[in-house]
Amino acid sequence: GTTLVWLRNDLRIADNPALSAALKHGMARAVHIEATDGRLRRRGAASRWWLHHSLNRLAEELAQLGVALDTVEGEAQTELFKAIAAHGSDAVYWNRRYGRAEREIDAAIKARLKREGIATESFAANVLVEPFEMATGTGKPYSVYTPFWNALKKQDIAKPLPRPRHGETIRPQRVDSDYREADWGRKLGRHWQIGEAAARERLDRFLDELVLDYPGDRDIPRKAATSGLSPHLAFGEISPRQVWHAAQAMAQHAPAKASAIDKFLSELGWRDFNYNQLYHRDDIATVPMVAKYGGLKWRHADAAFEAWQRGRTGIPIIDAGMREMWETGVMHNRVRMLTASLLAKNLLIDWRKGEQWFWDTLVDADAANNPGNWQWVAGSGLDASPYFRIFNPVTQGERFDPAGDYVRRWVPEVAGLPDKLVHQPWEAPDAAALDYPAPIVDLKVSRERALEAFKAL
Ligand code: FAD
Repeated sequence: GTTLVWLRNDLRIADNPALSAALKHGMARAVHIEATDGRLRRRGAASRWWLHHSLNRLAEELAQLGVALDTVEGEAQTELFKAIAAHGSDAVYWNRRYGRAEREIDAAIKARLKREGIATESFAANVLVEPFEMATGTGKPYSVYTPFWNALKKQDIAKPLPRPRHGETIRPQRVDSDYREADWGRKLGRHWQIGEAAARERLDRFLDELVLDYPGDRDIPRKAATSGLSPHLAFGEISPRQVWHAAQAMAQHAPAKASAIDKFLSELGWRDFNYNQLYHRDDIATVPMVAKYGGLKWRHADAAFEAWQRGRTGIPIIDAGMREMWETGVMHNRVRMLTASLLAKNLLIDWRKGEQWFWDTLVDADAANNPGNWQWVAGSGLDASPYFRIFNPVTQGERFDPAGDYVRRWVPEVAGLPDKLVHQPWEAPDAAALDYPAPIVDLKVSRERALEAFKAL
């Protein structure tokens, strides 16, 4: 019989332990199930676009190894057992995932496989260290990042597996999904190369050319100073262990880069930290990690929410970020913090609404990182930004986009203003003549309102 590899967020050939083990075992076949189980969070639109292309790339790569990839949509267990029956599989392998609902689904499937006498094995592949391997001195999950990171660094991070050897090449199938390239997809496509090879190139280029300036430049939204790996990591086109070991090798080879590489890896460490929260806590996309934040009285302000979504708040750096995301599928990290803070604090709109919008429009939408960061900004996360830290988008803009290049790129309506007005166009003498909305919220008044609301908890 064949060994079936059940692919999930691990759409790569190299450092894919489930795939490597299956190929060693003999004939292998792969299946990707777009699961419709009610308990699972439905993938967002930008993510569906990326997935479609990623699966097509992967089908070609797998075909070179002689492995056929089937892609189906439906209930996970039903579809998996259909595939097992269709191919007469006597073994099923997969790489582990960490969300509660996902783990429960996988456990139920594993139990049924055992009952039916089908061999099954699962592997670690998608985090640096699996969440159940990380615990504080008293055996509890970590809730503070710095000690987590210090402990993570000392762990023996598994060496990535090499690309498995070629079998006999077969013809790749076209991935057959009901996905149709919409205008929006074509737009996103201008910004991205999808798939494992592109991810690897991106990593290598980052380590060769950019990492040295990462610590100083990573907060400057105008610069493409970060790795750009987030969607590749979210889909598992590259593994965090590959990133880790490539970065460490570069630090060895070029000691001048060592401290910058440390900084970069400490950001990558947040991904594992968020996966630890995802593993240990209730649904982090809906339940505040610190319970008292559940009592916050959010405002229902539909018009303001829509202005935020569309990049029409009248606050240039906020609008720039929201438009950048709509156009490219990502937003610079600094600006993600500012847009999230404006929503959850100045506008006092439930962070879950914002999280859902990001979930739908980010190509790097990640089940741990998106809610984890939103809770960090909203104050309800573990080791979160304190509630009284309310970013001022004007001073933040002046600090991180001093010449206004980022804002001018995405908000052409204010491009003609001098630098000192570009982050606060409402101060311009001819503000009314600009084809740009007045700010939907008074930053000072709304700051006080948020402080009151949060203090009351
Ligand atoms: P780099 O700076 O090159 O970092 C390398 C990798 O480290 C990233 O690809 C990512 O995997 C990880 N990383 C970096 N910063 C963080 C962080 N703060 N938290 C967790 N992991 C991090 N990141 C996502 O991957 N998916 C999301 O859905 C997501 N939603 C976010 C929502 C908000 C409100 C905020 C404030 C941040 C969010 N982030 C998310 C974190 C961060 O903004 C992105 O990971 C980063 O901008 C991606 O760019 P990069 O790959 O060039 O990052």
